[in-house]
Amino acid sequence: MPDKVRCCDRMDYDLTQKCDVHESWFDCPNALIGLVRTGYGLIVHDGGSSVIEIGFCPWCGSKLPKIGEIDLDSAQSPKGER
Ligand SMILES: [Zn+2]
Ligand SMILES: [Zn+2]
Repeated sequence: MPDKVRCCDRMDYDLTQKCDVHESWFDCPNALIGLVRTGYGLIVHDGGSSVIEIGFCPWCGSKLPKIGEIDLDSAQSPKGER
């Protein structure tokens, strides 16, 4: 999990906490934020693994990278040349 996506302590807490009861973090009602393809989403606890994309942190209001808009190639390239 990339460190750069954390915008505040509350987000960091939600992304890093673990649950002893639920094997999958998506199954835990305590889980609020999920990472999908390094974007953010609100986890929908409907028995599946649905995530509603969010554009801003619900706690601090920071703008979050959109799911699917993140260029994984540029993140991996050492120089950022285009
Ligand atoms: Zn935040
Ligand atoms: Zn749980």
